Amino acid sequence: MSTRENLFPTYAPPPINFVKGEGVWLTDDRGDKYLDFISGISVNTLGHAHPDLVKALTVQANKLWHLSNMFDVPGQQELADKYCSASFADRVFFANSGSEAVELTLKTARRYHYDRGDEKRIKIIGFDGSFHGRTYAAVNASGNPKYLKGFGPRLPGYVQLPFGDHDALQVEMDDTVAAVIIEPVQGEGGLRPVPGQCLQGLRKLCDEHGALLIYDEVQCGAGRTGKLFAHQWFENAQPDLIACAKGVGGGFPLGFTMATEAVGKVMVPGTHGSTYGGNALAMAVGLAVFEYLGDPEFYKHLNSVAAEFEAGLENMAQQKYPDMIEGVRGKGLLIGLKLKVPNMDVRTIARDDHHFLIGTAGDNVIRMAPALNVTHDECKQALTKLDDVFAQMKSAAKTG
Ligand SMILES: *Cc1c(COP(=O)(O)O)cnc(C)c1O
Repeated sequence: MSTRENLFPTYAPPPINFVKGEGVWLTDDRGDKYLDFISGISVNTLGHAHPDLVKALTVQANKLWHLSNMFDVPGQQELADKYCSASFADRVFFANSGSEAVELTLKTARRYHYDRGDEKRIKIIGFDGSFHGRTYAAVNASGNPKYLKGFGPRLPGYVQLPFGDHDALQVEMDDTVAAVIIEPVQGEGGLRPVPGQCLQGLRKLCDEHGALLIYDEVQCGAGRTGKLFAHQWFENAQPDLIACAKGVGGGFPLGFTMATEAVGKVMVPGTHGSTYGGNALAMAVGLAVFEYLGDPEFYKHLNSVAAEFEAGLENMAQQKYPDMIEGVRGKGLLIGLKLKVPNMDVRTIARDDHHFLIGTAGDNVIRMAPALNVTHDECKQALTKLDDVFAQMKSAAKTG
């Protein structure tokens, strides 16, 4: 492991040097293989080095990388058209990351009301346990004290309510609300899916109060839950604005904000911009990823693999290790376990002793987000490895 003395000490990675990836497998500099079930935190939609994405990127790299938005960038309208055709949206703004995509949903919501002469509507209601990214507006929208501490006063107009507290929401909804922002499946907060009737209720409540509804699908979108967007599992639960990133670029930095016509049209020239956003390389890869995400056949395989994987996890939780596992959390291939033993220990043992890479999330959850084209066999191998981890911890607890 090389020294990291010139890097901001924001991260403390383990001493492993990965040098190559292929599908759901990573290889380190000693030739050891690891089964990757976290995919760069829900990013590598088609696994590492998918040939279609490598080709799209290299073909484009030989033609044109960057123009800035001073000029019409090849691929932008085509990719925007595809995502709009497959969703509630009419307008897209391309950015590079989830935080930027979230930031623009918040700006657009306030600007929408401002344009209608309703300048007092600046309140953004969010929920405890949410994660919306690390920019100023994003940390204020999620309200996690850990991410706000030491960075000066909070931005005005951001309110967080307890997750699932309908009464608190009723009280907070007034004529100063610009928008409600929610992840249809909380990722970071512990893989908590919001029930369909709650999203429908939120939609209704926002309509009644003239507020906009924002979904942060940075993590749960891009096919992760078995539909292109997680909210699409439910009727009558469409947002006005949505933030997307992570999986839509399949590993290349790409994020975007989508909106209805009525909302998106307020962002006229001068209101927002991005130098890199929507660059030709990102568009080429985004289009190649959408070849899969836009194909209904892709979801048949995904949903069958996800169902089998979930059944395996349920078996572990209910039959084999009920003393260590509280239950299965998440949806589709954004799935994990809420544990009774420390999640960090499980993650570390999985990585170091079983070469199985998983993540953690809030609420003592282990988080898995394998490539969406993961095979039944790879999922079986993952279940075996996870079983081995719990068996090892169980026997260590006995002898220890
Ligand atoms: C990861 C994430 C973000 C932030 O995305 P970045 O690309 O890291 O800026 C925002 N919202 C959710 C739900 C996320 O999971």
